[in-house]
Amino acid sequence: SLPPFDHQPRPYKGMPGEEILQKRKTFLGPSLFYYYQKPLNIVEGKMQYLYDENGKRYLDAFAGIVTVSCGHCHPDVVNAVVEQTKLLQHTTTIYLHHAIVEFAEALASKMPGNLKVVYFVNSGTEANELAMMMARLYTGNLSMIALRNAYHGGSSATIGLTALHTWKYPIPQGEIHHVMNPDPYRGTFGSDAVRYAKEVQDHINYGSPGNVAGFIAETFQGVGGAVELAPGYLKLVFDIVRKAGGVCIADEVQSGFGRTGSHYWGFETQGVIPDIVTMAKGIGNGLPLGAVVTTPEIAQVMSQKIQFNTFGGNPVCSAGGHAVLKVLDNEKRQTHCADVGSHLIERLKILQQKHEIIGDVRGRGLMLGVEFVTDRKEKTPAKAEAAILFEKLKDLGVLVGKGGIHGNVFRIKPPMCFTKEDADFLVDALDYAMAGM
Ligand code: PMP
Repeated sequence: SLPPFDHQPRPYKGMPGEEILQKRKTFLGPSLFYYYQKPLNIVEGKMQYLYDENGKRYLDAFAGIVTVSCGHCHPDVVNAVVEQTKLLQHTTTIYLHHAIVEFAEALASKMPGNLKVVYFVNSGTEANELAMMMARLYTGNLSMIALRNAYHGGSSATIGLTALHTWKYPIPQGEIHHVMNPDPYRGTFGSDAVRYAKEVQDHINYGSPGNVAGFIAETFQGVGGAVELAPGYLKLVFDIVRKAGGVCIADEVQSGFGRTGSHYWGFETQGVIPDIVTMAKGIGNGLPLGAVVTTPEIAQVMSQKIQFNTFGGNPVCSAGGHAVLKVLDNEKRQTHCADVGSHLIERLKILQQKHEIIGDVRGRGLMLGVEFVTDRKEKTPAKAEAAILFEKLKDLGVLVGKGGIHGNVFRIKPPMCFTKEDADFLVDALDYAMAGM
């Protein structure tokens, strides 16, 4: 059974799950993205645990798609939001408000180099939209480069950056080009960063006007299936892109705020400092919040046009986001992620030796992926098997994420308060679920 946890969920008096499901079909429309065969009706959350309508507790190893950084309903974040809500929910970000600048200052203090200017938005998609606009305005160039297997958003501009066919729809790409993904497990050149970087140079020379507006990458691809880019890749590519007149954008929507354990930001694991950093998800512990952080020099271009976002940096989200930063620091979450993460990956690697179906275990900190294959040599995605395991884990009380276009990668990215006991339970549950596979 799950590790002991001192929390009594409230009795649920809302609509039963069956009824919600029927109504959802009518009023919310179809989607491919409904995760479980029989969707869960989650009614309460406390730190790394979720509760369904019957009071059953689940270990949340996916954190609301890598969003709940501090823990579900962390008391400090709840308190900051409630206090600000009582005082002032919204005016307009045209006026002054102390919560916005206090948060911006705290966020800027977390950034390396000259990344000191913050623009608040409401989501990761909006952050990447804005970053792309900044890159084009600042450089005067049009061409954007992104990686295959990337996810950067679903709006009409950012869907061009996203490169997973499962998410695409017919729309002009708008001068966005995708280069080879430096994926150590599945990539054509393995971990050879030099060869992948050469392909970027080739693209600039032969597939573009010879210049670039911007290059964008997630150092740890999330939706694409927990892929850590080949070591050294970003350093080489940032150099190439800057020489071609472009700026370098790091999408930290999933990998920031200490989750990797070794560093506060994902890009730091590659020893680079981007020109623009986008973030969302973990920044608000569940609040709709995103940000773009850049240098004062690049920010200058924003004075050429009106830049306004009605809700971006609203007082409530700013107060909540600021509380998140303090919690992560006060509770030393980065070192905790390193500690628990190394224990978890070690145990997962032992599990890999036992179960042939585990093709790869990867990641760092609490940013891990387990990839299932039917054949280790051919790396054939174990799509059906992963789907069965996914359901079994849920029944055992463990919720993980799915990734990659085949859904054969389990993404383990829990709230950052996840403990070693939780990690052990997850591994034992996975071991049990895989019996006979
Ligand atoms: N970038 C990355 C790396 C993401 O994972 C996501 C969301 N999965 C986005 C951007 C888009 O964020 P949002 O869903 O908040 O628009």
